[in-house]
Amino acid sequence: MPSIRNMSLLQKDIQNIWHPFTQTYGSEAPVAILKGEGLYLIDEEGNRIIDAVSSWWTSIHGHCHPYIAQKIAEQASTLDHVIFAGFTHPKAVDLSQHLLRLLPANFSKIFFSDDGSTAVEVAIKMAVQYWHNQGQTKNRIIAFKEAYHGDTFGAMAIGERGAFTKAFESLFFEVDFIDAPLPGSEERCLQQLQEAMRSDTAAFIFEPLLLGTAGMQMYSVEVLQKMVDLCKAAGVLTIADEVLTGFYRTGKCFATNNLKSGSDIICLSKGITGGTMALGVTACAQHIYDAFVSEDKFKTFFHGHSYTGNPIACAAACANLELLATADSLQKISELCRLQAQWAQHFAAHPALRGARNLGTITALEIKTGDNTSYFNTLRDTIYQHFMRKNILLRPLGNIIYVLPPYCITADELQHIYSEIELFLNQLHTKS
Ligand SMILES: *Cc1c(COP(=O)(O)O)cnc(C)c1O
Repeated sequence: MPSIRNMSLLQKDIQNIWHPFTQTYGSEAPVAILKGEGLYLIDEEGNRIIDAVSSWWTSIHGHCHPYIAQKIAEQASTLDHVIFAGFTHPKAVDLSQHLLRLLPANFSKIFFSDDGSTAVEVAIKMAVQYWHNQGQTKNRIIAFKEAYHGDTFGAMAIGERGAFTKAFESLFFEVDFIDAPLPGSEERCLQQLQEAMRSDTAAFIFEPLLLGTAGMQMYSVEVLQKMVDLCKAAGVLTIADEVLTGFYRTGKCFATNNLKSGSDIICLSKGITGGTMALGVTACAQHIYDAFVSEDKFKTFFHGHSYTGNPIACAAACANLELLATADSLQKISELCRLQAQWAQHFAAHPALRGARNLGTITALEIKTGDNTSYFNTLRDTIYQHFMRKNILLRPLGNIIYVLPPYCITADELQHIYSEIELFLNQLHTKS
């Protein structure tokens, strides 16, 4: 073992660091990235890697956008942090105003946390305590079986149960799962929702229009509207988890902008700071907030994190939202939506694919797997490594390749990604 001073960056990493969602045994060393520049991540050897997944769906304007970087720097030397209980600061207020302007009109309060998972935890706790504060025991949550809401305990409990959650299931609270209303199963799912609603149901939580981690599965606005209407009629709160879909990923600022009115609670994170700082937001309608305002101290919402409302993260989010409001960004987003829809169409009938789908800025290609399951198990890794060798970062979800780029991507760069994907699919087809 070389002494720590002489070790390479990667050796030191392997010695010290435990990476997320990574089985160290048998896996390749991580790639050391020294710089980010727009669409590109630049590694130790100077390779420019296309970030076609927006670094876990966070990057909005591309890496190291100078305006966001400047606002972060200014904030870091003005006010780095302040406890958010009993104190406030201009960037939190600016951000709350900006978000409330963008959100559906029924939202009126912004609660800050740290990331998508904590935004979801806050939403669940708000919903359950909303009923508790009114003297009602309603503590059951309805969720989609295939959903992903995060990796903390509450968020895990309401998400897909499988290999990733196996070790913890005995510790989860009970959840009423229904199938997601994917095309063809709408009626069945509406029926399931109706049957799942009980007198002690607190809330229904959903990823609107797009189940991201489940493989970029898409469903219609019409069925979501019906589901939300059913909940409203039954007095069940609705929680939209827009951690992925927020900030124009689906074409509109929020996926629930497509509904007649907003949900009662909404969770935001990922794109909120443009992919620069960790920040979670749970926004709620006035009636939710009102249930916590009381002479009775026990009706307080007892939740907070050390970095709640962090000024640097809020400054980054404000800068991101300012950029998103420009004609230039909106033009790029609508152009990206148009191109992504075209590419989905281009691939729709490819013989290696079961199908192609598009929602806003996201396109997903589902590879045929047949019943060769051992091949299927390694397909994801094969695809990942193949494209990394081409300096394109794609992180397939099983047999589903998706392209979810920052909005700064050009038509040519997108074309380059899809040309490489097409070559790969053609090879796959001739091999099988
Ligand atoms: C990523 C994601 C989360 C969890 O967010 P983290 O920031 O990773 O904790 C929650 N919900 C959805 C829909 C997500 O895509």
